[in-house]
Amino acid sequence: MRNPDPSTFGVFSEVTRRDHEQVVYCHDPASGLRAIIAIHNSTLGPALGGCRMFPYANENDALIDVLRLSRGMTYKAAVSGLDLGGGKCVVIGDPKKDKSELLWRALGRFIEGLGGRYITAEDSGTTMNDMELIQRETRHVVGISRSLGGSGDPSPVTALGVFQGIRATVEEHLGKNSLSGLKVAVQGVGHVGYHLVGHLVTSGCQVTLCDVDIASVKAALDAFPGVEAVEPDLIYDVDCDIFAPCAMGGIVNADTIPRLTCSVIAGAANNQLNDEKLDAAALMERGIFYAPDFVVNAGGLINVSNELGGYNQERALQQADGLYDICRDIFRRAKDQDDPVH
Ligand code: NAD
Repeated sequence: MRNPDPSTFGVFSEVTRRDHEQVVYCHDPASGLRAIIAIHNSTLGPALGGCRMFPYANENDALIDVLRLSRGMTYKAAVSGLDLGGGKCVVIGDPKKDKSELLWRALGRFIEGLGGRYITAEDSGTTMNDMELIQRETRHVVGISRSLGGSGDPSPVTALGVFQGIRATVEEHLGKNSLSGLKVAVQGVGHVGYHLVGHLVTSGCQVTLCDVDIASVKAALDAFPGVEAVEPDLIYDVDCDIFAPCAMGGIVNADTIPRLTCSVIAGAANNQLNDEKLDAAALMERGIFYAPDFVVNAGGLINVSNELGGYNQERALQQADGLYDICRDIFRRAKDQDDPVH
């Protein structure tokens, strides 16, 4: 996150610099809510994007984060072919200590006040339960449990999208239309990584996985015979064709790139490149093909967006399948423009 210089920092200049349409500061004294909602662009439809809760050091950091994230959502929705714009919300606070029903309901009323221009969803620091409290005040929230008519856990749909992204990448870069026999290193076997390993094993891949959580490693090893596990830090050195980061961001960086043996990186984690320009260039130099994370992991957005027309998992899975064609198209264009894909 860029730390703005407070002496030159101006809210309007930050907002206009990134072409945002609207930024709303929300304060509710009774619950202590301090939140910022940013609508980047609503050309294609209402701005959908998750609500992040984080103990930001100051409000400028919170503003920069919500502006950056909401802009990313505009591109993610557009590239996924959804009739949605890009928006995001950040709540300033510690998710472990500062949550309350009052706080979420207050935020729900602010969202309701936007009349559907912004639709919120779960993000880091927030849960389905928080969304359900918001829902008591507004219809403009997705990521609700199946029992309340929502889409529930998005991970199976996200994992299918990542799998299709891997297929497209392998076809583009390795010229293979089958994954059979390819070696894949999966970092993180939580919600998405676990389902992804299932798809890879079914396709005949040799999977090596890791996770800092021993129980998650055990669950994956038990479910998918033939896969192997390594210590988390050794995942970068695993002999493989494909590296699939499914844990956290920033892991493709100056320290890890020289260690990678793969030809392709495609995974679910957000913001995998630590430095977009430098790391993309370093990957290109090493001949490693990088599938942009915000496209490959768009299944999560596709899944929650399906709630808007009455949730149907089959339709969501079909749309996530479409990420294969979307990736192929992006790769073709990147090649035509001689651009690193990022
Ligand atoms: P998760 O928390 O369920 O799983 C992440 C796993 O990574 C956990 O099991 C965790 O123990 C493990 N992990 C953390 N640090 C690690 C490390 N250093 N080495 C190895 N493993 C580590 O999260 P998830 O829902 O599976 O999401 C995975 C990634 O995909 C996240 O970056 C998330 O933002 C992104 N993403 C998820 C979705 C979705 O539908 N869940 C959608 C889009 C993007």
